Amino acid sequence: MEFQRICLVHYHEIGLKGHNRSSFENRLLKNIRALLEGKPIRDIRRISGRVLILVEQGATWEDACDIEESVLGVPGVARVSCGYACERDLEAIGRAAVAALDDAGDFTTFKVAARRNHTDFPIDSMTLNREVGALLCAAFPDKIVKMKDPDALVHVEVIQGGAYVYARSERGVGGLPVGSSGKVVSMLSSGIDSPVASWRMARRGAIVIGVHFSGRPQTSSTSEFLVDDIAHLLERTGCIARVYMVPFGNYQREIAVSCPPELRIILYRRLMFRVAERIAQREGAKALVSGESLGQVASQTIENILVTNAVVGLPVFRPLIGSDKQEIISDAEQLGTFEISSQDAPDCCTLFMPRNPETHAKPEKVEAAEAGLPIEAWVDEIVEAAEVHDYVCPSYRKRA
Ligand code: ATP
Ligand code: MG
Repeated sequence: MEFQRICLVHYHEIGLKGHNRSSFENRLLKNIRALLEGKPIRDIRRISGRVLILVEQGATWEDACDIEESVLGVPGVARVSCGYACERDLEAIGRAAVAALDDAGDFTTFKVAARRNHTDFPIDSMTLNREVGALLCAAFPDKIVKMKDPDALVHVEVIQGGAYVYARSERGVGGLPVGSSGKVVSMLSSGIDSPVASWRMARRGAIVIGVHFSGRPQTSSTSEFLVDDIAHLLERTGCIARVYMVPFGNYQREIAVSCPPELRIILYRRLMFRVAERIAQREGAKALVSGESLGQVASQTIENILVTNAVVGLPVFRPLIGSDKQEIISDAEQLGTFEISSQDAPDCCTLFMPRNPETHAKPEKVEAAEAGLPIEAWVDEIVEAAEVHDYVCPSYRKRA
């Protein structure tokens, strides 16, 4: 290819003013750079209002698509356009436009949208549209120029010292760069919901620290492997920094033998929340995240949420609280976690479950049931026994 292949990363600029804007841009640039490590890239840099990726000379079309694919899923990315950089002359721009339109996939109609960022280029945008359009008509004789809603839009941007030409542009996940909204501790099961909840928080700029409660040693560690697979998927877009794997089976057994069966789930959950909060303190995270959706199962009633929240001081975010299962499933499919989450694994959710769980727990009853348990000592023990798995998260800094 005679032209330099490029990917232009666009982000929404709403609300990006002053200092916010440059820290957003720097973070996004840093995240993208780290996630593309090892891919055939010559340079990544900030240009006015966008991030420019220069693909290595000799890289193939597939390489460029792979780079595009990786960047599309990164929080903060609104759009990725792939095309070419060329010299600032009409003939070169025309040839680059032919190459760019070739990359655009199937189309019948097209138009050219030219823009001059520097008026020192002698040809104005209207003339550029016309001239480049004419060259494209000659190169693609069976295609038709259409001004309104064309299948393909060929962008030509003339900048100082060069031009960018692209016709391929895909929508990214949007949101904010991971790391721009602090840290959260997310309760991550191997189920369908909590990976989606974690992902949504990451898309709003939070670094996710997972905590998984496995049924070990009462069950196998299958759920831990599944959670690790899920974390590796989230890792691809820089969303997750670590997961605390917590063997929880023995504590459930203790609760099961000494407390009223209908309160078991609530007692498990109160213990989980306390452990998650302790981990949050250790990590400097300022909120907890859970994948509950109102009324989905017995433990997800307003009353039960109230008695579970009562044991922690940090805010608990539930990004799925108003979502239907179908919406959550379609997000999980898009994220790629659905298949992993559909595998059966015994975890603490399947262990020592009561037949008729309480749906409207009374705080006094729950507190009375807990009174005889060494809760504080358990929390210390559990956090101590947790196994920490680390993932690549460019924004995360380990605390001493
Ligand atoms: P999920 O699909 O996320 O497992 P669920 O529909 O199975 O959710 P519950 O079992 O009631 O619902 O769990 C509600 C939330 O509690 C989960 O979304 C998750 O945030 C947390 N949670 C449940 N089990 C575990 C676990 N074993 N480890 C960590 N968090 C858990
Ligand atoms: Mg579950």
